[in-house]
Amino acid sequence: MSILNKIVVASHNEGKVREIRELLIPYGVTTLSAAELSLDEPVETELTFTGNAELKANAAAIASGLPSLSDDSGLVVESLNGDPGIYSARWANKPKSEGGGRDFSMAMWHVNDLLKSKDRSAHFVCALCLAFPSGKKFTYLGKVHGEIVWPPRGERGFGYDPIFLAEGDIKTFGEMNPIKKHAKSHRARAFEKLIMNHF
Ligand code: IMP
Repeated sequence: MSILNKIVVASHNEGKVREIRELLIPYGVTTLSAAELSLDEPVETELTFTGNAELKANAAAIASGLPSLSDDSGLVVESLNGDPGIYSARWANKPKSEGGGRDFSMAMWHVNDLLKSKDRSAHFVCALCLAFPSGKKFTYLGKVHGEIVWPPRGERGFGYDPIFLAEGDIKTFGEMNPIKKHAKSHRARAFEKLIMNHF
């Protein structure tokens, strides 16, 4: 068992917290989520996935006094100059006048609408940061390449999963069994590096 037996998952995104917990199960780690600890959600002011991951993990480690693991991730579409990229979650924000919250059907529709006849190559990126209350931090990056399909397929996963078809697959991440997604996703690839170094 690792010396890291209790960590905070520095995210308020339920889909991500669930996937991170599932990925950590084999390592006997107790996880507490930022929401369970009522930690504030910091504003993501950085312009890179790694910058935002570090900002979120540091904030949670300082606020909780525990090692904290953050994930900053998103969908990068090459022909859209990297959009939605670090703004992937924000593309789903609904106006306050409509009650706020997030609508990923709208965000997926927006991506497809901008693509029209453009090249549909895309990749997911995940930056994981493990930060300690001392200020020490370790950051790892993972990617998975594929393409954007339309219409959306599948109700599993979260976010943009129903429109992402990874290279060599016939099922989108939204259709895929979570065990299969965990074997190849951007998050899984960043995790391999984290596990190799810390667990
Ligand atoms: P943030 O890292 O919390 O700023 O948001 C990342 C956003 O990227 C999520 O809200 C999703 O929209 C998208 N995203 C990240 N990872 C995945 C994934 O594995 N599947 C689908 N969408 C993802």
